[in-house]
Amino acid sequence: MKLPMHMHHIPVDALTGLVRDVFLAAGCDGAESNRIATHLVGANLSGHDSHGVVRVPRYVEWLEAGYVVKGQTAEVVTDGGAFALVDGKWGFGQTVAPQAVALGIARAQQHGVSVTALRNAGHIGRVGDYAEQAIAAGLISMHFVNVAGSVLVAPFGGVERRFSTNPIAIGVPLPGRPLVLDFATSLVAEGKVLVASSGGKKLPEGALIEPDGQLSTDPHTLYGAYDAVGPRNPANGQGAIRAFGEHKGSGLAFMCEMLAGCLTAGGTSGPVSGRGRIANGMLSVFLSPRHFGTQAEFERMGLAYADWIAACRPADPAAPVLLPGEPEQQRRAERTAGGVPLPDETWSNILATATRLGVKSPP
Ligand code: NAD
Repeated sequence: MKLPMHMHHIPVDALTGLVRDVFLAAGCDGAESNRIATHLVGANLSGHDSHGVVRVPRYVEWLEAGYVVKGQTAEVVTDGGAFALVDGKWGFGQTVAPQAVALGIARAQQHGVSVTALRNAGHIGRVGDYAEQAIAAGLISMHFVNVAGSVLVAPFGGVERRFSTNPIAIGVPLPGRPLVLDFATSLVAEGKVLVASSGGKKLPEGALIEPDGQLSTDPHTLYGAYDAVGPRNPANGQGAIRAFGEHKGSGLAFMCEMLAGCLTAGGTSGPVSGRGRIANGMLSVFLSPRHFGTQAEFERMGLAYADWIAACRPADPAAPVLLPGEPEQQRRAERTAGGVPLPDETWSNILATATRLGVKSPP
């Protein structure tokens, strides 16, 4: 019988400080270390442990291997005024993605709409973060993301890896009720398999598929053999994650590759020989209701509609209908107060990385 997993509850400030110190020790400057720490802990706070501090050891390994480059500034390759192609130059996603989004926000505030096509960004993490950046500026935004060089997900009807986990996020700045839809087009994000392999939340039924077509919830399907503590490499597994929503989710994943991989020219999850490292591409669209002349109606109709949906009689009286982004808001409130829960293995892996870099762990 498996013993119940031990969870550590780490106060937000202590965890953020530790992660910041790890990246400082790994050679990043203070501002970048802060951004990475705040973003990763922010993902845990919103309940997306898959994109939180569980990534620290892997990010450090990527930095050390030169896959990700510290201190980069995203470069504007094509400037069309209301649109821009931006190259992240393999910088940390938490550095170059906010730069691309800030450019998109500034241009939408000028023109009413804008599109930024970001390529060659290191892992950008929780995409909802960027929709929240646009919401703070009063803008609607849509983000289509791919992971060039990563192939993990079987298309509808297939058993071989063809897509990456290709998330989509949409943010809507309703006053007092900001809403963010943000999910991978795979049945689970790869990080959720990572979390499950480290003793965290189990995978839902049918999340993975074996080469013979059998469905699976066992992380070994993706990672092959691995030790309890230490790295997991999807290259060692034979199976795939499945696209969500049958043909519909599979179609969205395909279109993410077209928008974020092909239009940006950053590359796709397709034939990857010689690439050697992965990067996120992100096509973002920003819309300013004020410029459309419908700010007041947008807010009034949007809030009324949100209320009406939330008032739908729930199937389970104990589980009211939630709007996109509300589970994350609830989790944020709980975890800000009670600390970030981390399974033993995740916490041990972070401490091992910290110790290796000479960083003192919190008491
Ligand atoms: P998920 O399956 O948990 O879905 C999250 C979305 O569904 C949110 O918008 C949430 O508000 C909404 N939601 C959840 N429960 C709900 C409920 N009961 N009622 C109404 N709405 C509900 O997310 P996921 O697919 O596991 O993705 C996790 C994270 O991984 C995302 O933040 C995503 O951006 C990130 N991701 C990043 C990359 C990358 O390459 N950078 C790749 C894949 C995923």
